[in-house]
Amino acid sequence: MQGIQASEIRELLKVADAPGVISFGGGIPDPTLFPTESMADAMTAILSDPVRGPQALQYSVSEGDPALRAWIAARSTAEGAPCTADNVLITAGAQQGLDFLGRLLIDRGDAILTEWPTYLGALQAFAPNGPRPVELGGGNWMGEGIGDGPAAFAYVVPDFANPTGATMPETARDHLLAVAQTHDFPVIEDNPYGALRFEGIASASLLARDIARCGHVDSSRVMQLGSFSKILSPGLRVGWVIAARSVIDRLVLMKQASDLNAPRLNQLAALALVENGLTAQIDRARDSYGRKRDAMLSALLRHMPPGVSWNRPEGGMFLWLTLPDGTDTTALLPHAIEAGVAYVPGAAFFPNRDVTNCLRLSYSLPAIPEIEEGIARLGRVLGQHHAQNDHHQADG
Ligand code: PMP
Repeated sequence: MQGIQASEIRELLKVADAPGVISFGGGIPDPTLFPTESMADAMTAILSDPVRGPQALQYSVSEGDPALRAWIAARSTAEGAPCTADNVLITAGAQQGLDFLGRLLIDRGDAILTEWPTYLGALQAFAPNGPRPVELGGGNWMGEGIGDGPAAFAYVVPDFANPTGATMPETARDHLLAVAQTHDFPVIEDNPYGALRFEGIASASLLARDIARCGHVDSSRVMQLGSFSKILSPGLRVGWVIAARSVIDRLVLMKQASDLNAPRLNQLAALALVENGLTAQIDRARDSYGRKRDAMLSALLRHMPPGVSWNRPEGGMFLWLTLPDGTDTTALLPHAIEAGVAYVPGAAFFPNRDVTNCLRLSYSLPAIPEIEEGIARLGRVLGQHHAQNDHHQADG
């Protein structure tokens, strides 16, 4: 437990739920997009079915529901990463995949290569195993970044990263795989957001590229995590790992030891929904988040003081703001909350917490008028902070 840091941000963001505060904090899907009615219908149909009803309420195999695994394998195959149900383990969200892979692959003190910043939840999942995070690729993914010894693995979120919303360029994908090949380390590709692209053209995943290189998923060094959390519902807790069969065999043992099996009812309901047309559901989410991203970009242009910059994510739920050097977004957060707006300070996503002038904004949850108002409030807080800093400089 010594490796796990208490999160002061978690405490601060609890206040962000207070009435009147517009929160760009959590990476939380918009509940108006949940397929609540079709889920209710699917669950009722499953429970009323003489075969599936008892199955849904019984213990089941640790690998996960065979039909759901076959569906996930078929989707992966259609997206250029051919595999079979034997290459798929159903997990309690992608998060459980991170936990298992951390335990499987990290020996205390091992280097793990991560983007810088990276997903805080991954750092938390890996932490109990005592890894030593090393920056992958010096900010542009292209350096080798393997430090002074072998690495347990590289961990990346190539499509619409959390926290930055960035997409990993194709050249960087190939470069990472080449480096991984040379130094013989596995690559964890975490992909909960990939389906939520609202502009640009999708790049082949690391898994697809590696299978094309080595010829078969069972020889691939990439382990890909997926999830229904951002496309159906995070409350279902249904995610998956796609990997070589030798890896899946080990993960199945971990799954069995950990929680025996993912809830079958949730797996069957997810399967019923996706068989009934996942495309329409994804299109709705893409359209909604795309419009919210546009609203946030346009509000930022109008309300941010000089010296603040941000990116234009092509998908996902997040946008990354960089403030002038010397700004401390952790220290600013209480002022922002007082002004009625919340965000996550960027330092939380850097393994050594040394970058203080960035922050993450999530546009998935608030409605468009709230996005406009929240960014206006944030602009005022940052503007005042600038003014105060200028004043201090004039004093000194
Ligand atoms: N990976 C990343 C990059 C995420 O942003 C999240 C959710 N915030 C997860 C994994 C975990 O997702 P799940 O709900 O599937 O466990």
